[in-house]
Amino acid sequence: MTTIHNLSFPRMGARRELKFALESYWKGESSRDALQALGARLRQQHWADQAGLDWVPVGDFSFYDQVLDMSFTLGHLPERVQGFHGDALDNYFRVARGRSAHAEAHQGCCGGVAAGEMTKWFDTNYHYIVPEFTAGTTFKLDASRLLAQLAEAQAQGVMPKPVIIGPVTYLALGKAKDDSDKLALLERLLPVYAELLGTLAAHGVQWVQIDEPILVTELDADWQHAFTTAYHQLKACPVKLLLATYFGQLQDNAYLAANLPVAGLHVDAVNDPGGVLPLLGLLPAHKVLSLGVINGRNIWKTDLNAVLDWLEPLAERLGDRLWLAPSCSLLHVPVDLAQEQQLDAEVRSWLAFALQKLDELKILARALRQGRAAVAAELAANHAALQARRASLRVNNPAVRAAVAAITADMGRRQSPYARRAAKQAALLRLPLYPTTTIGSFPQTAEIRQARSAFKAGRIDPAAYQAAMRAEIERSVRAQEELGLDVLVHGEAERNDMVEYFGEQLAGYAFSQFGWVQSYGSRCVKPPILFGDISRPRAMTVAWTRFAQSLTDKPMKGMLTGPVTLLNWSFVRDDQPRADTCRQLALAIRAEVLDLEQARVRVIQIDEAALREGLPLRRAQWRQYLDWAVQAFRIAANGVDDETQVHTHMCYSEFNDIMAAIAEMDADVITIETSRSDMELLAAFEHFSYPNQIGPGVYDIHSPNIPAAQHMIALIKKAAERVPAERLWVNPDCGLKTRQWAEVIPALTHMVAAAKALRAHAS
Ligand code: GLN
Ligand code: ZN
Repeated sequence: MTTIHNLSFPRMGARRELKFALESYWKGESSRDALQALGARLRQQHWADQAGLDWVPVGDFSFYDQVLDMSFTLGHLPERVQGFHGDALDNYFRVARGRSAHAEAHQGCCGGVAAGEMTKWFDTNYHYIVPEFTAGTTFKLDASRLLAQLAEAQAQGVMPKPVIIGPVTYLALGKAKDDSDKLALLERLLPVYAELLGTLAAHGVQWVQIDEPILVTELDADWQHAFTTAYHQLKACPVKLLLATYFGQLQDNAYLAANLPVAGLHVDAVNDPGGVLPLLGLLPAHKVLSLGVINGRNIWKTDLNAVLDWLEPLAERLGDRLWLAPSCSLLHVPVDLAQEQQLDAEVRSWLAFALQKLDELKILARALRQGRAAVAAELAANHAALQARRASLRVNNPAVRAAVAAITADMGRRQSPYARRAAKQAALLRLPLYPTTTIGSFPQTAEIRQARSAFKAGRIDPAAYQAAMRAEIERSVRAQEELGLDVLVHGEAERNDMVEYFGEQLAGYAFSQFGWVQSYGSRCVKPPILFGDISRPRAMTVAWTRFAQSLTDKPMKGMLTGPVTLLNWSFVRDDQPRADTCRQLALAIRAEVLDLEQARVRVIQIDEAALREGLPLRRAQWRQYLDWAVQAFRIAANGVDDETQVHTHMCYSEFNDIMAAIAEMDADVITIETSRSDMELLAAFEHFSYPNQIGPGVYDIHSPNIPAAQHMIALIKKAAERVPAERLWVNPDCGLKTRQWAEVIPALTHMVAAAKALRAHAS
């Protein structure tokens, strides 16, 4: 009989209870007991929510991050917090966020430390705390967190399946601080894993889920060998291991994964349905095969009948060896669709959040166990919903399809090559050497937020709202003029979020109220739902930008979010290739760009903050993604006249491997994040010289610190070693919306002074 289980459940709570509890604890407004009690309540709720599954995950609940949890389980804390006051939870938050709580009792001695580095969890928008290794790193088991949660689960009467991160993935996710070989630590790490598994077995555990998602990436011989070593050493442990892979295809690691000495293997059958049959041929006859057949990363209903058509013969063949689950952890989807009473009813009928996905799993299991007739009504309802979605006029807009079909290569090309454009732009804009600008947003003050929420709630009318936003725009423009910046921005006061703002105005998008997904720690994002063909009923930014331009003689930069970023930060429809959806977004943004140009906006920035994070996990697939992503940007941006200067902005510094693709976008100016990495990024230019203008960020806006002019001068000088001064801009790393005016004014004063000093030096 088919077994059903879940890999991990979202831990934030359906109403983000954990977020609020954490933030209140950190501020010193609530007690640690209250926080612990809330954690226990959420775990209990989540196990109850998973009733009906044969195995439920234990240990997937986390106060901050599952990788950090694993570091603590392995007794692996950065040296800088060892020997500190307080207990493990204090140190846990110190590593997570630099301090344990607001009223840190030991401010003087061990209060604040550098927080652990964060980076993206595979190709998701979730960030984990990077384990820090050195050649001397040692490990020591601390199973207390897992055992405590296990005892709770057992007391609640669920069938517990502890979830841990496997040793090879754990090493792969970490960073060797001293450039030592991380793999050399495996030998020290494995005895701790063995001890952990033994301890769990002693507490009655039968199955342990051991996550090794790096099996879906390209592994060299050493890393493949590490898998063999690790699992042969762990095979004597008295528990059954379910080795879990997800987010992609095993491909050339399939043989390795199938033959590791474990009791079961979980694969992502949503990403790789074609890989399942070949895998069956490789899998030893005693092993469990867990198929992730429900998409754990997206929010659409599963086509249950189609899955059953495919599963029934497999179930026949595998019998008890077949397990079913979502494709990956449900951390990446919101909790409960039932809360969404304001969501458009038609769109809502097409969706499934975490709880609804588990219901789907149960329907599949019943169909396999008792025959489809036992769930005939459920299957019929599912079929009807999917039919309706396919046929909906909200999804299908023939005019949009015709416009996409009519895209020509010419639409992605500027009229003239860069050098010609640059000369015309220089004549028109008359900018000094080292021109200064900002990335778009100015501080989102409490007043701005209040005005926006009052408007949304209908407490103020459109005219009052417009007046409030105009006042903010005027304030930003005046401030920029006083600062002496060269290219101004309107400040984005009217934007709650750079994706949501556009999504709300585009046809084809819907918004949830509670569709939050954890991004890191207590932070969540609410990705908009891109469900249908995308069109732009009317101009989205022109009126605000035109108003801003009317206040000043300096050039005002129009500010848009690019098609690739709109795509990568949304829940995207699954009924057509992402590349096609991206082309639709590109046409919508192109229309906005041309409207801005018509309104005499001569500098237009199109942010592609999320271009890099859309890269596939396997390098072999990068080219294909970059081809359509770059093409989408070009379609959006390149319809303008030579005189219009196109900027783009990206918020990261790992450019080396995609530099050529970024150059192909052919923006006149690119602004990027570099200040933290000390212009490290510019090393990329050694091998590939970026042909157009570039603004390497000199002000780290993620920090409240005010950079000194001297520091910024040094950074720009460093940049000038690689990029000719005539092509350098001076700007912050990113937008200023999370900062305070009191920080922004002095920082930008220094930035403008730095540019002036450099100009004086040059002449
Ligand atoms: N224009 C946006 C801003 O200034 C860019 C934000 C981003 O790159 N994440 O806020
Ligand atoms: Zn940015």
